Amino acid sequence: MFNDLVSENIPMGVILTQDGRILYLNDWGCRFIGYSMDDLKNSPFINLIHPDDQDLLIQRYQNIMAGREQSADSCYRIFSKQGETFWIRFRSKVVQHEGKPALMSFMMDETSGKRQEESLKRSEERYRELVDNLAEMIVVIKGGEICFVNKRLKEEVGMDLQGLGGMSFLEFIHPEDRDMVLDRYLRRIKGEQVPACYDVRLIKPDGQELTCEIRVSLISWEGEPATQTAILDISARRQAEKEKLALEKRLARIEKMESLGLLAGGIAHDFNNILFPIIAISEMLMEDLSPESQEYGNALEIYNAGLRGGDLVKQILSFSRQQDDEKIPVQVQSVLHEVLKLIRSTLPSDIEVIQDIEDNCCAILANPGQIHQVAMNLLTNAYHAVEPSSGTIQVSLRESALNGNQSLRYAVLTITDSGVGIRSEYMDKLYEPYFTTKEAGKGTGLGLAVVYGIIKDHGGDIRIRSEVNKGSTVDVFFPLIGDVASTPSDLPEDYQARGSERILLVDDELPVAKLGHKMLERLGYQVISFTSSAEALDAFQKDPQAFDLVITDMNMPGITGDQLAETLIALRPDIPIIMCTGFSERISPETAKEIGIKGFLMKPVIKSSLSQEVRRLLDQATRVS
Ligand code: ADP
Ligand code: MG
Repeated sequence: MFNDLVSENIPMGVILTQDGRILYLNDWGCRFIGYSMDDLKNSPFINLIHPDDQDLLIQRYQNIMAGREQSADSCYRIFSKQGETFWIRFRSKVVQHEGKPALMSFMMDETSGKRQEESLKRSEERYRELVDNLAEMIVVIKGGEICFVNKRLKEEVGMDLQGLGGMSFLEFIHPEDRDMVLDRYLRRIKGEQVPACYDVRLIKPDGQELTCEIRVSLISWEGEPATQTAILDISARRQAEKEKLALEKRLARIEKMESLGLLAGGIAHDFNNILFPIIAISEMLMEDLSPESQEYGNALEIYNAGLRGGDLVKQILSFSRQQDDEKIPVQVQSVLHEVLKLIRSTLPSDIEVIQDIEDNCCAILANPGQIHQVAMNLLTNAYHAVEPSSGTIQVSLRESALNGNQSLRYAVLTITDSGVGIRSEYMDKLYEPYFTTKEAGKGTGLGLAVVYGIIKDHGGDIRIRSEVNKGSTVDVFFPLIGDVASTPSDLPEDYQARGSERILLVDDELPVAKLGHKMLERLGYQVISFTSSAEALDAFQKDPQAFDLVITDMNMPGITGDQLAETLIALRPDIPIIMCTGFSERISPETAKEIGIKGFLMKPVIKSSLSQEVRRLLDQATRVS
């Protein structure tokens, strides 16, 4: 009676099982799990237990029944009738019931404690996750020892609590930064004011150096003062900043070159007009004088000096890049000769340069300054390659059809050196900007990148073959232009074609017009010249059949040369027209062709080319008609 009174009122569960079956569960126990005694009587106790805990239950049960344990104290999850899970602690003891051993247990609810424990564990995991996945690396240092590192720090630097073998955090710091870091650490721990953010170089165990930005704060770790440091690897950012700076410098240099180019172009225009009378008048003087006389010699000197001046202007202009999109017919051979002249003077004499340049190679459509740069960059590379042990550089230029297709003809520039060669693993990288194997100051890695860009811009191609220690061969292909007229250069210089046809000459500058007039008259032609394009047009309109050929300047006030040409051709489609252009006032061959301009002369115009171009066009016209 008294027993029942106690067990029915005690605020905990009391359960008696025998052979695994429930014999008795007190009132508290029944209410707690929601079953009545009738439901439970003789049912297997294990059915109430969460499947994950059943193995443990069986093991403890066997132990206690075999006498290996006097009493058992274990926590299991049990299911209530409503399907809820509770954590129950069972304190069990073997008792005798009706002459057989049975198990009597007290049941205590530990659910809320367990739930708290679990949620604490979960929240700890969440925080750990957050800290591990921060972009920053985190380390906590207490008493000079590392007591916490997040996952990122472990992975990226290899700093870990385990396996450090008593390594101090200082060993991860660049030797030059150690004193500063230690000093700040000690002062911070003492409570002194020290900068919270600064840059530090870290050294990974494999020796790699990282530039990092760190932010340190004083915290309490397990009740003692410690520092928490957030570390951000800024190596990539620093590198990008460096590259940006280099690019900006390069850009500034390019801009400077461009304004120089503009300036040079402007000067060249005027300078060409100054050179023109010098060349033309000395040429005429020579005609009037006897070649034996001293005066003839003097005039020849002036003439030659004038030509040299013209060459110089061209050379300056090919350096100072003109507008990139401006392409004109260019003879690669002339550019090559210029570049070779320039580079020859800088090469040591034990480096042999072999030239095999086809001098009547057709013109390509190009920006001469850029072709100059291509040749210069490739020759510089060849020079660097042969420099260590001297050797030969071979430069060849020839015309070739690609893949036997005669309509696709190319000017092929080949530069071969007997130098160090290129390792096969570098072949893919050669054209990348900043790829260089050369020491600082010698190579920037931009040479081939620029070459590649220019060649692609010209519709060409480049191939590089190489063998280490044997040398390299670079082939550059530029598509040739078809039938665009260029100044014939294969005639003897003193050849002066003459004639008596009627020529209309237009140039806005009086001295130029006058000189041209005189030159043509001396060649036998009948000339009418104008300094106003409008007046010239007037004269032509009055009688389009009165002229056999027109020579016009390009840049003129009012009606420009191309506009004039277009109008004249509209009036008389078969009229041959020669356009005189300076270096900076070009007309593209497509436009010229579209308009119907058949001839070109480059300023300053010398008499031999003038006579030849005039004759060529007139002869062409008679053949056609
Ligand atoms: P840079 O000459 O400034 O290094 P480039 O873009 O001109 O840059 O060339 C890139 C790299 O290609 C060079 O550093 C070199 O390793 C390799 N290279 C180019 N031309 C040759 C050559 N003729 N012989 C050997 N190596 C070459
Ligand atoms: Mg180079």
